[in-house]
Amino acid sequence: MTDSAERKMQFLFALRSKGVTDTRVLTAMEMTDRRDFIPRGLFAARAHEDMPLPIACGQTISQPSVVGLMTQALNPQPRDKVLEVGTGSGYQAAILSRLARRVYTVERHRRLVSDAQANFERLDLTNVIAILGDGSHGLSEQAPFDRIIVTAAAEDPPGPLLAQLREGGIMVVPVGQSDTVQRLIKVTRTSHGFEYHELRPVRFVPLVEGLGKD
Ligand code: SAM
Repeated sequence: MTDSAERKMQFLFALRSKGVTDTRVLTAMEMTDRRDFIPRGLFAARAHEDMPLPIACGQTISQPSVVGLMTQALNPQPRDKVLEVGTGSGYQAAILSRLARRVYTVERHRRLVSDAQANFERLDLTNVIAILGDGSHGLSEQAPFDRIIVTAAAEDPPGPLLAQLREGGIMVVPVGQSDTVQRLIKVTRTSHGFEYHELRPVRFVPLVEGLGKD
């Protein structure tokens, strides 16, 4: 077996052992090389390890098992329109683009938006678009969404995002103070309101208001 085939097997094994069992999610993650979303240099060799890594603008690309578990909880369907808040490297959005019809991903740092968009184009992912903005307000011009995923921690699920979730839709969001362990919450919009399920403890950078300087 080649080194890269073995690394891929170990990567998938690690995901399964952490509870990522949905074969559609595993296939989407197998097709999306995390190395493509990590800046060249010091950390590139660690791309397939199950740990968060630094990217530009002082931000992070999330741990693969957390990306897998959040994607699994979101359960995106082939006809879905998805909103991601917190593009970061674009890795999560690229995985979603393989599972849904259309993905909008919003990021407050201009540089991360342009790097992610360039990557989507290079990888020929034509159904995902990165947009500069404060994602805590959602993306009203494209609402409602079938699925919303937030990859930065809010104190509560943001009201505008709840409002932009279609009936029957699902939102996955880390909730809690930024300097403590947060809780990953799955929100389902029903005809009567919202149902909340707590999934697991997580640790994310905070959802910050306004645009970044870079
Ligand atoms: N999903 C990313 C990936 O696949 O690499 C990882 C996201 S990183 C943990 C969180 C990101 O959320 C950061 O890039 C940060 O700049 C962004 N962020 C924080 N607050 C935001 C806001 N209000 N609107 C949009 N993006 C925000």
